[in-house]
Amino acid sequence: MTTTDHDAGLRLTVLGCRAGMPEPGWPSSGYLVHAPGGEILLDCGPGVAAKAAMRAAELSAVFISHMHTDHCLDLLILGKARTQGPLPATKLPLYVPPGATRTLHRFNELFPLGTDGPGDHPTDHVFRDVFDVVEYEPLRPVRAAGATVLPVPMRHRQPCCGFRVTTERASLAYTGDTGAGSDFAPLVTDVDLLVAEATLDEPDRTAHGHLCAAEAGQIAARHGARALLLTHWAHTGRDWIDAQVARAGEHYRGRIDVAVPDHTFHVDTDTQET
Ligand SMILES: [Zn+2]
Ligand SMILES: [Zn+2]
Repeated sequence: MTTTDHDAGLRLTVLGCRAGMPEPGWPSSGYLVHAPGGEILLDCGPGVAAKAAMRAAELSAVFISHMHTDHCLDLLILGKARTQGPLPATKLPLYVPPGATRTLHRFNELFPLGTDGPGDHPTDHVFRDVFDVVEYEPLRPVRAAGATVLPVPMRHRQPCCGFRVTTERASLAYTGDTGAGSDFAPLVTDVDLLVAEATLDEPDRTAHGHLCAAEAGQIAARHGARALLLTHWAHTGRDWIDAQVARAGEHYRGRIDVAVPDHTFHVDTDTQET
């Protein structure tokens, strides 16, 4: 990334978009937001650390929607990767759901460098020495990379927040994992790009909390999203994904794109794939 890239405005690169466990070439959830002052990583599921670590110098902050493994399991790997070579002068802000800090420390303690348990090596304390872990408060905005990030509570089996990222020029909303009964207004209203999970074929009849593509389209239409990016794929076959686009399109007349690893979407004007 160069300064010129930052000046290009708000963009989003899909690092991973597979629901649950990854498939070859399809990491689990991870989205890199290119903001005016740096890059923000939204979620860090399996397979995402290898890609995010390559952008380490540009990373300004990491936000985790919830503590299901497909959204957070690679945090330890990303932290350990940042200990290779000199530690950066400043810790990387890591915003996690309320109560998640202790889980992360216990996770690191389970995988020490030596056989005698955690020692002094930074890889044994990445959530102390590499990350600056902060538990965000729902609906309390956070400044990062020249943008404002608003965590918005979503209904899911684990406490979960979607994130609305706003700059002077544009805005995007990422749902994380959510059932259709969430209050989407603070997250989605008039947003330039809605990145919405579309995990299921049909509406969720359980208490787990996921969307189907038709519901994603309904939410985008109801709240005036200017473009829709469907993601969190339960299957990655092209025909299945195309069917989800068609289902969303029955309810939403704006532009609909599909998440594919390593594709970048411009948020500022018409959302365009590059
Ligand atoms: Zn998920
Ligand atoms: Zn989940």
